[in-house]
Amino acid sequence: MKFKLKLTVVCFSFIILLSFTVHLLSQESATNVNVKIMNPYAGSGFYVKGNTHCHNAPGNLGRELWDVVTDYRNKAYNFIVLTHYFWQNCSNYSSEDFLCINGQEMGHPLGHILGLGTNKEIDPDLDQQEIIDEIKRQGGVVEIGHPYTFRRAILFRLKGIDLFEIMNYGHDIIQRRYNLGIEPTKLQLELWDELLRKGEKVYAVAVDDSHFPYERGHYWVMCKVKSLDKASVLQALKSGACYSSSGPKMDFDVERNTITAYCHSSFPIKHMVVKTALLSRSSKNNFISFTVRSPVHKYVRFECEDEAGFKAFSNPFFISGG
Ligand SMILES: [Zn+2]
Repeated sequence: MKFKLKLTVVCFSFIILLSFTVHLLSQESATNVNVKIMNPYAGSGFYVKGNTHCHNAPGNLGRELWDVVTDYRNKAYNFIVLTHYFWQNCSNYSSEDFLCINGQEMGHPLGHILGLGTNKEIDPDLDQQEIIDEIKRQGGVVEIGHPYTFRRAILFRLKGIDLFEIMNYGHDIIQRRYNLGIEPTKLQLELWDELLRKGEKVYAVAVDDSHFPYERGHYWVMCKVKSLDKASVLQALKSGACYSSSGPKMDFDVERNTITAYCHSSFPIKHMVVKTALLSRSSKNNFISFTVRSPVHKYVRFECEDEAGFKAFSNPFFISGG
């Protein structure tokens, strides 16, 4: 009996010593990790609200375009990129507090590609990669329109994508109206995560894809800029200093290796989610943190949803070895 008691004490002491050592080691690896976090929201600036996928009816062009600009300005937007199916110069519609940026949607049969900030017409019948290359040649930003309509293999072959539409209001409406059972946002988030896991540096946008007045003002991007001008907005889009939203606001904080995202909404927060290449975790709070201990996570991004079903999505914080 005495021997049994001694053995139990020895075993317990060993377990306590072992767990203390493991704890110390894990603390050590938590503080001495060698990872580099690319924070797309670093630096000073203020957020401006915009829509990067916007149409105007081809009939009475001048009047229609004025209506589009007035409508978005009245909805407290700071910029739109005019991306109808042919290139138009809309810079005359810009003012001190509102930017109309030139662009075009190339309605290629294998999937639509948008050029933001381009300066002349691009032939939509070009090969898709040629379209992307031409947008870049003109100093524009490449956006994949409603990516769920692409064949996966074709999408993954394209090189030089800057922006990926994760939310597209026009397409959500089409799917709901015809009850097709497809959820564009869900599919687009899956495709986006797949690209990010492959190591592609692609940022997200939420867009109206507004063909009609009732489609305006539902999904948008908030971009962090130092001033409201075309170059700053395009640079923010290209470098990921924007988040996508249908309602909530987000902000972010990076302290050593810990990234925290906050969500603000006029409705109670339903949940927040953090996703990396390896894991997904959620919280009922209006903030969520993730401490990066290894570059294998590749990226960290955040989602937020409120009780009314409005959502917001951060861009990825890319992770590399230090
Ligand atoms: Zn469109």
